[in-house]
Amino acid sequence: MSLLSVVVPCYNEEENVELFYSELLKNSSFFQEKEIELEILYIDDGSGDRTVAEVKKLRERDERVHLISFSRNFGKEAAMFAGLEYAKGDYVVLMDVDLQDPPSLLPQMLSYIEQGYDSVATRRVSRKGEPPIRSFFARRFYRLMKKISKTEMMDGARDYRLMTRQMVDSILSMREYNRFTKGIFGWVGFRTKWLEYENIERAKGETKWSFWKLLMYSFDGIVAFSTAPLMIASLMGVLLCVVAFAMIIFIIVRKILFGDPVDGWPSLVCIILMTSGIQFFCTGILGQYLAKTYMEVKKRPIYLVKEVV
Ligand code: UDP
Ligand code: MG
Repeated sequence: MSLLSVVVPCYNEEENVELFYSELLKNSSFFQEKEIELEILYIDDGSGDRTVAEVKKLRERDERVHLISFSRNFGKEAAMFAGLEYAKGDYVVLMDVDLQDPPSLLPQMLSYIEQGYDSVATRRVSRKGEPPIRSFFARRFYRLMKKISKTEMMDGARDYRLMTRQMVDSILSMREYNRFTKGIFGWVGFRTKWLEYENIERAKGETKWSFWKLLMYSFDGIVAFSTAPLMIASLMGVLLCVVAFAMIIFIIVRKILFGDPVDGWPSLVCIILMTSGIQFFCTGILGQYLAKTYMEVKKRPIYLVKEVV
Protein backbone atom coordinates (compact mmCIF):
# COMPACT_ATOMS: atom_id res chain seq x y z
CA MET A 1 0.00 0.00 0.00
CA SER A 2 1.17 3.53 -0.70
CA LEU A 3 -0.26 6.72 0.73
CA LEU A 4 -1.43 9.67 -1.35
CA SER A 5 -1.81 12.99 0.46
CA VAL A 6 -4.21 15.49 -1.08
CA VAL A 7 -3.49 19.02 0.09
CA VAL A 8 -6.34 21.51 -0.39
CA PRO A 9 -5.96 25.15 0.66
CA CYS A 10 -9.33 26.72 1.48
CA TYR A 11 -10.16 30.32 2.19
CA ASN A 12 -13.87 31.03 2.64
CA GLU A 13 -14.92 28.02 0.59
CA GLU A 14 -17.87 26.63 2.59
CA GLU A 15 -19.74 25.74 -0.60
CA ASN A 16 -16.87 23.84 -2.17
CA VAL A 17 -15.54 21.67 0.68
CA GLU A 18 -18.06 18.87 0.30
CA LEU A 19 -18.30 19.23 -3.48
CA PHE A 20 -14.56 18.71 -3.78
CA TYR A 21 -14.66 15.69 -1.48
CA SER A 22 -17.30 13.87 -3.50
CA GLU A 23 -15.59 14.74 -6.78
CA LEU A 24 -12.27 13.41 -5.48
CA LEU A 25 -13.84 10.16 -4.28
CA LYS A 26 -15.11 9.45 -7.78
CA ASN A 27 -11.60 8.04 -8.28
CA SER A 28 -12.06 5.59 -5.38
CA SER A 29 -12.17 2.44 -7.46
CA PHE A 30 -8.99 3.47 -9.23
CA PHE A 31 -7.24 4.07 -5.90
CA GLN A 32 -8.40 0.69 -4.60
CA GLU A 33 -7.24 -1.09 -7.70
CA LYS A 34 -3.78 0.53 -7.43
CA GLU A 35 -3.67 -0.08 -3.65
CA ILE A 36 -3.42 3.62 -2.89
CA GLU A 37 -4.61 4.91 0.46
CA LEU A 38 -5.90 8.46 0.74
CA GLU A 39 -5.29 11.29 3.15
CA ILE A 40 -7.15 14.55 2.53
CA LEU A 41 -5.71 17.62 4.22
CA TYR A 42 -7.96 20.66 4.16
CA ILE A 43 -5.88 23.70 5.08
CA ASP A 44 -8.21 26.39 6.36
CA ASP A 45 -6.44 29.66 5.67
CA GLY A 46 -8.26 31.66 8.36
CA SER A 47 -11.70 31.49 6.76
CA GLY A 48 -14.42 33.64 8.25
CA ASP A 49 -17.27 31.48 6.99
CA ARG A 50 -18.38 27.89 7.71
CA THR A 51 -15.40 26.24 6.00
CA VAL A 52 -14.05 24.78 9.25
CA ALA A 53 -17.45 23.41 10.26
CA GLU A 54 -17.90 21.84 6.82
CA VAL A 55 -14.55 20.06 7.05
CA LYS A 56 -15.34 18.83 10.56
CA LYS A 57 -18.62 17.45 9.27
CA LEU A 58 -16.74 15.47 6.64
CA ARG A 59 -14.26 14.33 9.27
CA GLU A 60 -17.06 12.75 11.28
CA ARG A 61 -17.98 10.63 8.26
CA ASP A 62 -14.50 9.88 7.04
CA GLU A 63 -11.35 9.45 9.13
CA ARG A 64 -9.16 10.17 6.13
CA VAL A 65 -10.18 13.83 6.22
CA HIS A 66 -7.91 16.13 8.23
CA LEU A 67 -8.17 19.80 9.08
CA ILE A 68 -5.35 22.22 9.70
CA SER A 69 -6.74 25.60 10.62
CA PHE A 70 -4.68 28.80 10.66
CA SER A 71 -5.00 31.56 13.26
CA ARG A 72 -5.65 34.06 10.46
CA ASN A 73 -5.37 34.39 6.68
CA PHE A 74 -1.73 33.75 5.75
CA GLY A 75 -2.24 33.37 2.00
CA LYS A 76 -2.33 30.39 -0.33
CA GLU A 77 1.45 30.05 -0.38
CA ALA A 78 1.54 29.53 3.39
CA ALA A 79 -1.38 27.10 3.19
CA MET A 80 0.37 24.99 0.57
CA PHE A 81 3.56 24.96 2.63
CA ALA A 82 1.69 23.87 5.75
CA GLY A 83 -0.02 21.13 3.75
CA LEU A 84 3.28 19.81 2.49
CA GLU A 85 4.66 19.84 6.05
CA TYR A 86 1.72 17.90 7.47
CA ALA A 87 1.41 15.45 4.57
CA LYS A 88 2.72 11.99 5.35
CA GLY A 89 2.13 10.49 1.92
CA ASP A 90 4.56 8.80 -0.42
CA TYR A 91 2.98 11.07 -3.01
CA VAL A 92 1.51 14.49 -2.43
CA VAL A 93 -0.84 16.41 -4.67
CA LEU A 94 -1.73 20.10 -4.33
CA MET A 95 -5.24 21.02 -5.45
CA ASP A 96 -7.61 23.97 -5.34
CA VAL A 97 -10.89 23.28 -3.61
CA ASP A 98 -12.92 25.14 -6.26
CA LEU A 99 -12.61 22.20 -8.72
CA GLN A 100 -10.56 24.27 -11.16
CA ASP A 101 -8.02 21.47 -10.74
CA PRO A 102 -10.05 18.47 -11.95
CA PRO A 103 -9.60 15.40 -9.69
CA SER A 104 -10.44 13.24 -12.72
CA LEU A 105 -6.89 13.89 -13.91
CA LEU A 106 -5.38 12.05 -10.93
CA PRO A 107 -5.27 8.52 -12.41
CA GLN A 108 -3.38 9.84 -15.42
CA MET A 109 -1.01 11.78 -13.18
CA LEU A 110 -0.30 8.74 -11.02
CA SER A 111 0.43 6.66 -14.10
CA TYR A 112 3.18 9.10 -15.09
CA ILE A 113 4.70 8.82 -11.61
CA GLU A 114 4.70 5.05 -12.10
CA GLN A 115 6.61 5.62 -15.32
CA GLY A 116 9.38 7.24 -13.30
CA TYR A 117 8.57 10.95 -13.32
CA ASP A 118 9.24 12.79 -10.06
CA SER A 119 6.41 15.20 -10.55
CA VAL A 120 3.40 15.71 -12.78
CA ALA A 121 2.40 19.34 -13.25
CA THR A 122 -0.53 20.92 -15.02
CA ARG A 123 -0.98 24.03 -17.08
CA ARG A 124 -4.01 25.51 -18.68
CA VAL A 125 -3.69 26.27 -22.35
CA SER A 126 -6.61 28.66 -22.45
CA ARG A 127 -7.75 31.35 -20.08
CA LYS A 128 -11.40 31.46 -21.04
CA GLY A 129 -13.68 32.90 -18.39
CA GLU A 130 -10.92 35.13 -17.09
CA PRO A 131 -10.99 38.93 -17.43
CA PRO A 132 -8.93 39.86 -20.55
CA ILE A 133 -6.78 42.40 -18.67
CA ARG A 134 -5.82 39.75 -16.17
CA SER A 135 -4.83 37.29 -18.93
CA PHE A 136 -2.87 40.00 -20.72
CA PHE A 137 -0.78 40.87 -17.67
CA ALA A 138 -0.33 37.22 -16.72
CA ARG A 139 1.12 36.52 -20.17
CA ARG A 140 3.42 39.58 -19.91
CA PHE A 141 4.59 38.34 -16.53
CA TYR A 142 5.64 34.92 -17.79
CA ARG A 143 7.30 36.44 -20.86
CA LEU A 144 9.27 38.81 -18.60
CA MET A 145 10.24 36.08 -16.15
CA LYS A 146 11.59 33.97 -19.00
CA LYS A 147 13.97 36.81 -19.79
CA ILE A 148 15.10 37.87 -16.35
CA SER A 149 15.12 34.66 -14.33
CA LYS A 150 17.12 31.49 -14.71
CA THR A 151 14.37 29.52 -13.03
CA GLU A 152 11.93 27.89 -15.41
CA MET A 153 8.32 29.08 -15.10
CA MET A 154 5.59 27.79 -17.42
CA ASP A 155 2.94 30.14 -18.76
CA GLY A 156 -0.44 29.13 -17.38
CA ALA A 157 1.09 26.71 -14.87
CA ARG A 158 -1.27 25.87 -12.06
CA ASP A 159 -0.33 24.83 -8.56
CA TYR A 160 -2.07 21.49 -9.27
CA ARG A 161 0.87 19.13 -9.05
CA LEU A 162 1.58 15.58 -7.97
CA MET A 163 4.98 15.00 -6.42
CA THR A 164 7.02 12.19 -4.96
CA ARG A 165 8.15 12.29 -1.34
CA GLN A 166 11.67 13.17 -2.48
CA MET A 167 10.51 16.29 -4.28
CA VAL A 168 8.24 17.32 -1.40
CA ASP A 169 11.17 17.09 1.01
CA SER A 170 13.26 19.22 -1.33
CA ILE A 171 10.56 21.89 -1.40
CA LEU A 172 10.26 21.77 2.39
CA SER A 173 14.00 22.37 2.67
CA MET A 174 13.40 25.80 1.13
CA ARG A 175 12.22 27.65 4.18
CA GLU A 176 12.06 31.15 2.70
CA TYR A 177 9.42 33.48 4.05
CA ASN A 178 8.57 35.13 0.73
CA ARG A 179 7.31 32.06 -1.03
CA PHE A 180 6.59 31.95 -4.75
CA THR A 181 5.77 28.31 -5.38
CA LYS A 182 5.70 28.51 -9.16
CA GLY A 183 9.38 29.45 -9.00
CA ILE A 184 10.23 27.01 -6.21
CA PHE A 185 8.90 24.06 -8.25
CA GLY A 186 11.15 25.01 -11.13
CA TRP A 187 14.10 25.75 -8.89
CA VAL A 188 14.19 22.31 -7.21
CA GLY A 189 14.27 20.65 -10.62
CA PHE A 190 13.46 16.91 -10.92
CA ARG A 191 11.82 15.25 -13.92
CA THR A 192 8.46 16.86 -14.52
CA LYS A 193 5.71 15.79 -16.89
CA TRP A 194 3.38 18.59 -18.01
CA LEU A 195 -0.29 17.90 -18.62
CA GLU A 196 -2.40 20.48 -20.39
CA TYR A 197 -6.08 21.25 -20.12
CA GLU A 198 -8.59 23.94 -20.98
CA ASN A 199 -9.37 26.40 -18.24
CA ILE A 200 -12.27 25.36 -16.01
CA GLU A 201 -14.28 27.99 -14.18
CA ARG A 202 -14.57 27.71 -10.42
CA ALA A 203 -17.46 25.61 -9.08
CA LYS A 204 -18.90 27.97 -6.45
CA GLY A 205 -18.02 31.31 -4.92
CA GLU A 206 -15.69 34.03 -6.10
CA THR A 207 -11.98 34.13 -6.86
CA LYS A 208 -9.90 35.23 -3.87
CA TRP A 209 -7.41 37.04 -6.07
CA SER A 210 -8.11 40.61 -7.07
CA PHE A 211 -6.14 42.17 -9.89
CA TRP A 212 -4.18 44.20 -7.36
CA LYS A 213 -3.35 41.15 -5.23
CA LEU A 214 -2.11 39.33 -8.33
CA LEU A 215 0.00 42.31 -9.39
CA MET A 216 1.66 42.43 -5.97
CA TYR A 217 2.13 38.65 -6.11
CA SER A 218 3.89 38.99 -9.46
CA PHE A 219 6.29 41.54 -7.94
CA ASP A 220 7.01 39.02 -5.18
CA GLY A 221 7.80 36.48 -7.88
CA ILE A 222 10.19 38.82 -9.66
CA VAL A 223 12.04 39.83 -6.50
CA ALA A 224 12.19 36.22 -5.29
CA PHE A 225 13.55 34.72 -8.49
CA SER A 226 15.51 37.41 -10.27
CA THR A 227 18.07 40.03 -9.40
CA ALA A 228 17.87 41.56 -12.87
CA PRO A 229 15.98 44.68 -11.68
CA LEU A 230 18.99 45.55 -9.54
CA MET A 231 21.03 45.79 -12.73
CA ILE A 232 18.71 48.53 -13.97
CA ALA A 233 20.13 50.97 -11.42
CA SER A 234 23.70 50.37 -12.58
CA LEU A 235 22.79 50.47 -16.26
CA MET A 236 20.81 53.71 -15.91
CA GLY A 237 23.75 55.27 -14.10
CA VAL A 238 26.17 54.34 -16.86
CA LEU A 239 23.75 55.47 -19.56
CA LEU A 240 23.17 58.87 -17.96
CA CYS A 241 26.92 59.41 -17.56
CA VAL A 242 27.46 58.74 -21.26
CA VAL A 243 24.66 61.14 -22.22
CA ALA A 244 26.00 63.82 -19.87
CA PHE A 245 29.51 63.44 -21.27
CA ALA A 246 28.29 63.80 -24.86
CA MET A 247 26.35 66.93 -23.91
CA ILE A 248 29.38 68.51 -22.23
CA ILE A 249 31.44 68.00 -25.37
CA PHE A 250 28.60 69.43 -27.49
CA ILE A 251 28.26 72.56 -25.35
CA ILE A 252 32.02 73.22 -25.24
CA VAL A 253 32.37 72.82 -29.02
CA ARG A 254 29.34 75.03 -29.64
CA LYS A 255 30.75 77.72 -27.35
CA ILE A 256 34.17 77.66 -29.08
CA LEU A 257 32.79 77.69 -32.62
CA PHE A 258 29.74 79.96 -32.28
CA GLY A 259 30.24 81.67 -28.94
CA ASP A 260 26.57 81.01 -28.02
CA PRO A 261 25.59 82.29 -24.61
CA VAL A 262 24.28 79.56 -22.34
CA ASP A 263 20.47 79.63 -22.44
CA GLY A 264 17.50 77.42 -21.81
CA TRP A 265 16.62 76.80 -18.22
CA PRO A 266 13.52 74.78 -19.30
CA SER A 267 15.76 72.06 -20.68
CA LEU A 268 17.73 72.13 -17.44
CA VAL A 269 14.58 71.65 -15.41
CA CYS A 270 13.57 68.72 -17.60
CA ILE A 271 16.94 67.09 -17.16
CA ILE A 272 16.87 67.52 -13.38
CA LEU A 273 13.35 66.14 -13.17
CA MET A 274 14.20 63.14 -15.30
CA THR A 275 17.39 62.22 -13.49
CA SER A 276 15.83 62.58 -10.07
CA GLY A 277 12.91 60.47 -11.27
CA ILE A 278 15.27 57.75 -12.36
CA GLN A 279 17.08 57.97 -9.05
CA PHE A 280 13.89 57.50 -7.07
CA PHE A 281 12.89 54.61 -9.30
CA CYS A 282 16.21 52.86 -8.74
CA THR A 283 16.16 53.50 -5.00
CA GLY A 284 12.66 52.01 -5.03
CA ILE A 285 13.96 48.83 -6.65
CA LEU A 286 16.69 48.60 -4.02
CA GLY A 287 14.02 49.15 -1.38
CA GLN A 288 11.99 46.20 -2.67
CA TYR A 289 14.91 43.85 -2.27
CA LEU A 290 15.79 45.34 1.10
CA ALA A 291 12.21 44.90 2.32
CA LYS A 292 12.20 41.24 1.30
CA THR A 293 15.58 40.71 2.96
CA TYR A 294 14.24 42.40 6.10
CA MET A 295 11.30 39.99 6.24
CA GLU A 296 13.58 36.99 5.66
CA VAL A 297 16.00 38.08 8.38
CA LYS A 298 13.19 38.28 10.93
CA LYS A 299 12.61 34.55 10.44
CA ARG A 300 8.94 34.79 11.32
CA PRO A 301 6.99 31.54 11.01
CA ILE A 302 5.34 31.07 7.60
CA TYR A 303 2.00 30.24 9.26
CA LEU A 304 0.46 29.77 12.70
CA VAL A 305 -1.86 26.88 13.45
CA LYS A 306 -4.92 27.32 15.63
CA GLU A 307 -6.37 23.84 15.40
CA VAL A 308 -5.50 20.45 13.96
CA VAL A 309 -8.12 17.70 13.63
N1 UDP B 1 -6.77 30.37 -1.18
C1 UDP B 1 -6.18 30.31 0.08
N2 UDP B 1 -5.81 31.47 0.69
C2 UDP B 1 -5.97 32.71 0.11
C3 UDP B 1 -6.55 32.74 -1.19
C4 UDP B 1 -6.93 31.57 -1.80
O1 UDP B 1 -6.01 29.23 0.64
O2 UDP B 1 -5.60 33.71 0.72
C5 UDP B 1 -7.20 29.11 -1.84
C6 UDP B 1 -8.64 29.10 -2.32
O3 UDP B 1 -9.51 28.69 -1.31
C7 UDP B 1 -8.59 28.11 -3.47
C8 UDP B 1 -7.20 28.32 -4.04
O4 UDP B 1 -6.44 28.96 -3.01
O5 UDP B 1 -8.72 26.77 -3.05
C9 UDP B 1 -7.22 29.16 -5.30
O6 UDP B 1 -7.89 30.37 -5.06
P1 UDP B 1 -8.85 31.02 -6.14
O7 UDP B 1 -9.70 29.97 -6.76
O8 UDP B 1 -9.55 32.15 -5.47
O9 UDP B 1 -7.80 31.59 -7.18
P2 UDP B 1 -7.91 31.52 -8.78
O10 UDP B 1 -8.24 30.11 -9.13
O11 UDP B 1 -8.96 32.48 -9.16
O12 UDP B 1 -6.54 31.94 -9.24
MG1 MG C 1 -9.79 29.07 -8.47
